[in-house]
Amino acid sequence: MTETLTRDSPVRILNGVGTARAARLAKLEVETVEDLLYLFPRRYEDRGNPTRLTALEPGSFSSSIATVVSIERRPTRRRNLSIVTALLSDGAGMAQGIWFNRRGLERVLPPGTKASFYGKIENKGGVIQLTNPEFEIIDDEDDAVTGNPGRIYPIYPGTEGLFQKWLRTLIKGALAVFSAELEDPLPEGLRQKLGLVPLQEALGVMHFPVDRDGWARARKRLAFDEFFLLQTALALRKRTYAAEKGGSPLAWDGPLLGRFKKEIIPFELTGSQQRVLGEITSGSKQEVPMNRLLQGDVGSGKTVVALMFLLAAVDSGFQGAIMAPTEVLAKQHFQRISEWLSGLGVPVHLLSGSLSNSQRVDVLEGISSGEPCIVVGTHALIQKTVRFANLAAVVIDEQHRFGVLQRGTLTEKGNHPHVLVMTATPIPRTLTLSVYGDLAFSTIDELPPGRVPPVTRKIPGADDSRLLSFIGEEIDGGRKTYWVCPVIEESDTLPLMPVVRRHELLSKRFGAERVGILHGQVSADERDRTMDRFSNGEISILVATTVIEVGLDVPGASVMVVEDAHRFGLSQLHQLRGRVGRGSARGYCFLIGKPGTPEGKARIEAMCSTADGFKIAETDLALRGPGELCGIRQHGVTDFRVANLAKDRSLLETARREAFALVNEDPALVRFPELRREVFRKLGLKLKLVETA
Ligand code: ADP
Ligand code: MG
Repeated sequence: MTETLTRDSPVRILNGVGTARAARLAKLEVETVEDLLYLFPRRYEDRGNPTRLTALEPGSFSSSIATVVSIERRPTRRRNLSIVTALLSDGAGMAQGIWFNRRGLERVLPPGTKASFYGKIENKGGVIQLTNPEFEIIDDEDDAVTGNPGRIYPIYPGTEGLFQKWLRTLIKGALAVFSAELEDPLPEGLRQKLGLVPLQEALGVMHFPVDRDGWARARKRLAFDEFFLLQTALALRKRTYAAEKGGSPLAWDGPLLGRFKKEIIPFELTGSQQRVLGEITSGSKQEVPMNRLLQGDVGSGKTVVALMFLLAAVDSGFQGAIMAPTEVLAKQHFQRISEWLSGLGVPVHLLSGSLSNSQRVDVLEGISSGEPCIVVGTHALIQKTVRFANLAAVVIDEQHRFGVLQRGTLTEKGNHPHVLVMTATPIPRTLTLSVYGDLAFSTIDELPPGRVPPVTRKIPGADDSRLLSFIGEEIDGGRKTYWVCPVIEESDTLPLMPVVRRHELLSKRFGAERVGILHGQVSADERDRTMDRFSNGEISILVATTVIEVGLDVPGASVMVVEDAHRFGLSQLHQLRGRVGRGSARGYCFLIGKPGTPEGKARIEAMCSTADGFKIAETDLALRGPGELCGIRQHGVTDFRVANLAKDRSLLETARREAFALVNEDPALVRFPELRREVFRKLGLKLKLVETA
């Protein structure tokens, strides 16, 4: 064997890792030795101090060490169901372990076997029971090899039984050989200043902690690394933007914008809108391209601000584009903008997937001719065939629906365009920093005057006569109702109300001519017709899936009913609720369903207790984690292995401050080659920009 061993070596190179086990490791995303060192325990068991069986608390998850007293397989009447029951004892107390469909378990755990058992504790008629507990046989000789002085055992994800023990030995060995070889990317001075433990120590302790404090220090160090590397990347990227020249300064005193403000806009801008407009103005008057995130709760009036930005581009002789995440929303923007601008003679084009070929060709020609215009579109905007000749202003609406990378793609279509990224899902500050930390921020934190938050109620079932008669009154009064269901059609596996069925039921009750239906399988033409009929009041009730979730603006809509509401995420519910109460009519939101999980319940409760999008977002982050929240899951951006955005806020702030200070002092990281290497290696793709800097 002359191969040199490095952290990048495949795990196969380690003793005892054959094809089968390498495949099993690959499922855990472990390909290299380094991956292995960063495969952290999902939990720990304190085997020196196990929970006594007499102290197990029903409802909790606990691990205990016990000996199998007896074990038997019970036949059941159902052919494909078998149950294994074991009586467990730890000398002081007894408990029952019960497993379903575990073939051969009685041979694995014969009477007399000592093992650690982990699972949910239940009290079944006075008997303490663990249902389908994980277990690991304790073999004192093995312990001598892999154990550690604190007797705290790491339990790794997605593994059980023998594999745990084997993995533990493997990692122990790999740590001994390789952890010293890992370069510490953190500048030594910074590490000392912040009192963080060295990387090598942190890795070792994370796997084999001796006590809680040591573990907390190790965890902190590793969490800091995750934040710090990302923040360094963002700092570098922000600098790269700032160093770029060749953007097109926009004139904000042109005739179109002037006339728009004087003759067209039907309301006064709120103070917040004006302030944000000021920020966008000064940002886009520069040659340095603007990269700005505009946040504002649903209904806060982002569209009009975005439109003025696009108009400033046209006034200056350039093109502007706005990208929306759905066809329905793109269509709505197109209609609204065309209507508003009809008197100004500004060409407005719609580019979406549902254009005919000849329409498409016309639009594409207009765009590539370089005529000053506004283009509204969906993802269709970022296809290769779309060539802007003169793009200077880009708006990305509902950014959380797009990936971070797509944001880049539209930007590349112009000659360093100014970019305004908008999101209506208010993002907690921690997340803003980690996902959008390279952007400047603007926030509209005020709703147009006269808005009252919708009344929100939970209702157990849809056949509530008061609900239906309330809807009847609302639509008789000329207002409109959205009714959202989680699925399109009946399914065998989930007992959920399908849109199609609810549409039938409501048609029966209110008359088919007053009820429309909208979902992903309705053709684009039909969808447009239905939306139009709903907007202009020909139909009063729209039964839909979440295709209507974001951005829709039908001012006369007053009622939002969400059926099986516990099936939806919190931000999603907030978005849905944001569709009503946008005009002068009071909004009502009814959440139907019986949440089966504590989390489902917490979501409904959060909705009923606040209409503040930022509070909702914080709760959502705590409940679900960041990946779902911004609609993207990316390693290093929202998916941290150790760090937790909801809990490690101050650590993130520190990492951000230090990273930006460092990059400010040493923009090319000349003095910190290890850090530079790590940032590029771990966050590769997203740093293309920096490499060219
Ligand atoms: P969002 O921020 O959710 O995208 P929109 O831009 O769709 O919100 O605006 C919501 C509604 O409020 C629209 O009907 C819009 O015309 C209206 N609106 C926007 N700004 C104001 C304002 N300053 N005063 C009154 N109505 C406004
Ligand atoms: Mg919007």
